[in-house]
Amino acid sequence: MARRPSRQLALADFVRDGSFVPYFDHNATTPLTPAARAAWLRAADEAWQNPSSPYRGAARVRVQLEQAREQLAQVLGCAPERIVFNSGATEGANAVMAHWARRLAADRKIAVNPTEHPCVLEAARHQFPAERRIELPIDAGGVVRGEAVAALLAAHPVGAVAVMAANNETGVLQPWTEIAELCRRQRVAFLCDASQWLGKRAANGLGEAGWVIASAHKFGGPKGTGFLVLPAQAEGFHSLRGGEQERGHRGGTENYPAIAAMAAALIEAETAHVPAAAGRQRWRDAFIAQVQAVPPGARVVGAGAGRLWNTVSLLLPQGVNHRWVTKLDQRGFQVSTGSACATGQAGPSHVLATIGLDAVEAGRVIRISSGWETTEAEWRGLAAALAAVDTELRHGADRIVTA
Ligand code: PLP
Repeated sequence: MARRPSRQLALADFVRDGSFVPYFDHNATTPLTPAARAAWLRAADEAWQNPSSPYRGAARVRVQLEQAREQLAQVLGCAPERIVFNSGATEGANAVMAHWARRLAADRKIAVNPTEHPCVLEAARHQFPAERRIELPIDAGGVVRGEAVAALLAAHPVGAVAVMAANNETGVLQPWTEIAELCRRQRVAFLCDASQWLGKRAANGLGEAGWVIASAHKFGGPKGTGFLVLPAQAEGFHSLRGGEQERGHRGGTENYPAIAAMAAALIEAETAHVPAAAGRQRWRDAFIAQVQAVPPGARVVGAGAGRLWNTVSLLLPQGVNHRWVTKLDQRGFQVSTGSACATGQAGPSHVLATIGLDAVEAGRVIRISSGWETTEAEWRGLAAALAAVDTELRHGADRIVTA
């Protein structure tokens, strides 16, 4: 049996011996899980009618769509009607910021974690002038401490707070349950970007956190599909107009096959992959121990903070990250220089700059992120490949390689 039955084979997926290229960029996107792929194919073949149409075939799709909503609601721990299907976290962040801009009293400010994904930071900048935005303080590891949020809420007229659950570049975890509770007690709106948390850590509790955004393709579902959890009080929330779908919260025909796949992926993650996290973290930690010895001087960014079990933001001892990424790619390992959406952008990542890395250091960071199908042998192979690339770079052998 093929090792990854959910993936279409492409020439670029093969290395010389015909095996798959080990994929270490799951924080950018994941391959479909087998359950997600099966659900998508079944729905695309058998439940393709428009769920809003007036005949029985469409009514069946409508029922299945609501079943998928119930499944997600059960995993998240909220009422099904609080879930709005959308295209993912970027849409969710933009919709929430636009809603806050319309609904918050003019004297209220928003407080945002500076290491958020650009979809939250840019949407906040777009909707709120600088004098209505406060940057939340972070500690040396990039963590927003609950005490800091409490002090800020006491000192400023804050109407809304945004703190992600886990960082996409460093994997650093935020105390989102504590912050959500603080905000709830003070009647302050709270947005939690759970894009990198879901599928890696248990989802329960997120349904009660406030406004929550997520993308299916980060946890083994399809791209361009996600959801927004509405808080209990979300009067007047309309993200897209032009249809009464999603109880009027978001017009537009629902992509039921993708939604079915998303629900299947999250259930599979919760039941199979999240419980396996401790074992997988041991493989990741063994990898870290190896690369800290060879090449000497490699350092883990955010090492002092709690981090996702799958992520290593590695500050390399020499060279520039894109050269390492190219050389690892030539050896059959797919890793990233940082967040996928920052690839090709000039300048260091805002996350690394915010937690104190200078431009040279930030230019030496690669992001390694494993997933549901990564094996221990692949982690070991990556450590060996890093050591080989280090030797090659030290001896200048890379000069003949074009990036
Ligand atoms: N938030 C985080 C933490 C992410 O990692 C990403 C994707 O990189 C997003 C939001 C945006 O997700 P999407 O591109 O699916 O909208």
